[in-house]
Amino acid sequence: RAKVQARGEYVFFTRDMALEIRERSKLMQALRVAIERQRLFLCYQPQISLHSGQVCGIEALLRWRAEDGRLIEPARFIPIAEHSGMIVGIGEWVLRMSCFQQAELARHGYPQLSMAINVSVSQLRHPRFLATLQSALHDSGASPQLIELEITESMAMEEADFLARTLESIKALGVKIAVDDFGTGFSSLSYLQRLKVDRLKIDRTFVGEIGDNERSRRIPELVIQLGHKLDLSVLAEGVETAEQANILRELGCDDAQGYLYARPMEPQHLVEWLRNHGARDDAAD
Ligand code: C2E
Ligand code: MG
Ligand code: MG
Ligand code: MG
Repeated sequence: RAKVQARGEYVFFTRDMALEIRERSKLMQALRVAIERQRLFLCYQPQISLHSGQVCGIEALLRWRAEDGRLIEPARFIPIAEHSGMIVGIGEWVLRMSCFQQAELARHGYPQLSMAINVSVSQLRHPRFLATLQSALHDSGASPQLIELEITESMAMEEADFLARTLESIKALGVKIAVDDFGTGFSSLSYLQRLKVDRLKIDRTFVGEIGDNERSRRIPELVIQLGHKLDLSVLAEGVETAEQANILRELGCDDAQGYLYARPMEPQHLVEWLRNHGARDDAAD
């Protein structure tokens, strides 16, 4: 009986896995076509200074518009892009587009806005990465000091030795580094001393609970204090309510990003949004 049960489970499991594999390879094929047909595009989400209330930066977030018009989330296709190696080409394109967008915003009267760009570890590992970054900066005319590469905390923990050298070279170009999803992999903090990072981004799972009770504030509070002790700025992601923003401001958090301020938007709406939210540096023109 137990055997039958076990066997039943086994069969069920493999059928699930086969489906999963078929699903993944279908998605991989579709992604390949999507790249060819230029169905990938970037959305931009503003970041707000909790000290001044002003927009201080933008994060570039990748989107895939399927043939039927639906949007496919990065959580579904980034892992596949990483697994298949397609992330290298995609990431190169993201880097260039984001640098050009930063330079364009500067020309539109926003020369102070930083541009945050998510990078995958397989991108960083690629021998051409630095050359790609350099030519993206050079060709676009973006200010390196306003470009911020986001690496995930799990990446920073796993790859500390090789990352240290790569980040060193990136920093030599003047480009900034942020640790994304910070707090989700809280097991070793030693990499924060070894890697030259500039900013911590508190993961939104902590931010979502911050209004619940005093207890739920303790980790974000600790992260903010830790960041400041290490001379890092701290941004909270996934801020959805004014209450959350107020609590974060009281805790000393520097910047925030989330639906409270703006959802990620397509580039054609970005300048209009900025115009309506008073970020324009009029002294600049
Ligand atoms: P992330 O870098 O941590 O980005 C933040 C995610 O939170 C984004 O999801 C954003 O749309 C979402 N978000 C922002 N504000 C709020 C809010 O107030 N509430 C809620 N519930 N969500 C909010 P998205 O765009 O689906 O991206 C998911 C992840 O995919 C990103 O997480 C990032 O790790 C990855 N990703 C996105 N674009 C790229 C890219 O160009 N390259 C690489 N390698 N990864 C990317
Ligand atoms: Mg990010
Ligand atoms: Mg994040
Ligand atoms: Mg996150």
